[in-house]
Amino acid sequence: MGYRGAGGPPPPRKGNFGGRPKPLHYFSEKVKGKSGPEAKILRPFKIFAGKQDIPIVALDHGSDPYSCYIHAFALKGSLDNMVVCPSPGEDDPPCPVCIALNKRAFWNGVLSIIDRSKWSPTEGKNAGKVYTDTRKLALIGSKSGPSYEELGRKVKSWHGYCFDVSRPEPAVGEDGKKDWTGSPKIGLWFPVRTMSREELKTEFEKAAVGYGMPVEEFIEPANYDLIFKPKSLDQLKAIAKDIAADLSAVKAAQAAQDRDGDGGGDDGDGVGAAAGDDDSSAISY
Ligand SMILES: [Zn+2]
Repeated sequence: MGYRGAGGPPPPRKGNFGGRPKPLHYFSEKVKGKSGPEAKILRPFKIFAGKQDIPIVALDHGSDPYSCYIHAFALKGSLDNMVVCPSPGEDDPPCPVCIALNKRAFWNGVLSIIDRSKWSPTEGKNAGKVYTDTRKLALIGSKSGPSYEELGRKVKSWHGYCFDVSRPEPAVGEDGKKDWTGSPKIGLWFPVRTMSREELKTEFEKAAVGYGMPVEEFIEPANYDLIFKPKSLDQLKAIAKDIAADLSAVKAAQAAQDRDGDGGGDDGDGVGAAAGDDDSSAISY
């Protein structure tokens, strides 16, 4: 691709696949051969608006999704930072992160899935490798909650249910504003078929080995009580301090930019981040 003029090509995007540095705070699960509890990041499953037929397999038993309150925030240039809020109720005293963000945590329904989409990094040491079958968390927003509850009732048990996921483009209102209500980040799930436990085991044996987990565990939902265990008050205070410092840095940069009048601009693609951000939780073939 060529660009005329002094602007040249778009500036390179920094960091990992998708141009985003790894989040500083995330949910993770323990796997064999890796020390510490933070061995594998459980990424949130998201697809771009307009994408169609991304195959996934749900893992939760029964029809009811798990739920918890999560703070999601950008920090030091990284998106998708996530922390469980230990005091979600409106009447609970806000946690340090609530205070730093000046925002209460959002309710999230949670399902564990295996993302079967394939992707390859275009640059870096793993360029050209194909990644697929990644364990992820589908975080359901409160607006989409009822439709996923209904879907859960329809499929009876999520475990082993295969879906094709598509995400419509947002509706555009008369005022020209995009309305994302009908286009959740996790897309719309169309049930395709179920896989038996034996099928799941056969299908994901290789992926499980690559991930470092016995296949019997790989086809099970994440251990929510463990991965969503709230951090200690001291840990939350430290995170809140980082957020406060970062917010003031952002504000100072913004003020300087306004003063200097160099509008510039980002393409602001925060809403529809890609599925499969980096290779840390993926399996390579
Ligand atoms: Zn909070």
